[in-house]
Amino acid sequence: MFVLSNLYTARLMRSAATVSKTIQTEKVNFRKVQSNHNIYFKNYCNCNKMTVPTIMRVMALSITTANRAGTIIRDVMKKGNLNIVEKGKDDLQTEADRSAQRCIIASLTKEFPNIKIIGEEGGSDLNVKDDWLVKESDAEFLKQNCPEELQELKDEDFVIWVDPLDGTSEYTQGFLDHVTVLIGVAIKNCAVGGVIHQPYYENDGGMLGRTIWGLKGLGIGGFVPSYPPDNKLIITTTRSHFSPSVQAALDALAPNEVIKVGGAGFKVLQLLEGKAHAYVFPNPGCKKWDTCAPEAVLEANGGTLTDMLGDHYSYNACIEFPNKRGVLATNGKIDHCEILKKIPESVLEVMRK
Ligand code: AMP
Ligand code: MG
Ligand code: MG
Repeated sequence: MFVLSNLYTARLMRSAATVSKTIQTEKVNFRKVQSNHNIYFKNYCNCNKMTVPTIMRVMALSITTANRAGTIIRDVMKKGNLNIVEKGKDDLQTEADRSAQRCIIASLTKEFPNIKIIGEEGGSDLNVKDDWLVKESDAEFLKQNCPEELQELKDEDFVIWVDPLDGTSEYTQGFLDHVTVLIGVAIKNCAVGGVIHQPYYENDGGMLGRTIWGLKGLGIGGFVPSYPPDNKLIITTTRSHFSPSVQAALDALAPNEVIKVGGAGFKVLQLLEGKAHAYVFPNPGCKKWDTCAPEAVLEANGGTLTDMLGDHYSYNACIEFPNKRGVLATNGKIDHCEILKKIPESVLEVMRK
């Protein structure tokens, strides 16, 4: 298990030996060893911040924090007062956006005070009530192996991009399944890790909410990805920021089907769930917090997310927020370059401006 493998295994074995001694039976009680493992693992992670690589701790806390933000988003909707503010043209902010951001930024800042965190809703009051302050990390995630190349990072290598509620228009209009919470982890310019939480995803049994994570070099978790049939082309694009450029790109690509849904997170999930092959958005409206987490999760699963000219965006702390050259994402089964080649020059010209 990543850096701590030998140390951890040795200590775990010692601790399992203690359990088997304590229960004084010839047959080791597996349940008891397992529960000892869990308690031991939790303590190990809490007590050895220095030994667990920062990227693993950031991801594990982002998973639980995104979940908590999801409950805040549902609570605001249940109470019924969205308290909507218009930030700009076609750009809304609700009580849920503000509260979810405060929860996420306060929780991550408390644990990682030296990591730069940029949230869509600007500077947040970090004085939050105690039950918005998430302290527990996702223990399942912490059992994963940290990719070797991510083990020795410094705090200043990180930038965390937070979209506390992606798909605000859809949230206000009742398209609740389009809503996601996005926490993207950039390392030295690149989108490397991401968490996409869907607060209104209905699980078997009716429980709401699921969380998907991706880390380059490790893969993705939280659900099983799949792919659409390869004998047709299905494209997902915006439902609330449509434009002549989007239409021109669709005309040139001539897909068999177009799925118009809200949010960058939900569109990338269409690719990961095998509902669409490509996400095409030749418009400048998306920002870095919209694409950092989706890009990392998609690419951890073999897909690609670039601008409409085929270049990856940079995610360093000084970069401008808007993704002026649009967004093109493909699922890893179709050729990203082939799609790029079909985008009309008139559309590319608009993107270059
Ligand atoms: P959409 O695909 O239209 O749902 O947009 C994906 C993300 O980009 C959402 O977070 C939107 O708020 C943002 N976005 C896209 N276009 C615009 C725009 N014209 N103005 C403001 N936000 C936009
Ligand atoms: Mg967004
Ligand atoms: Mg948002």
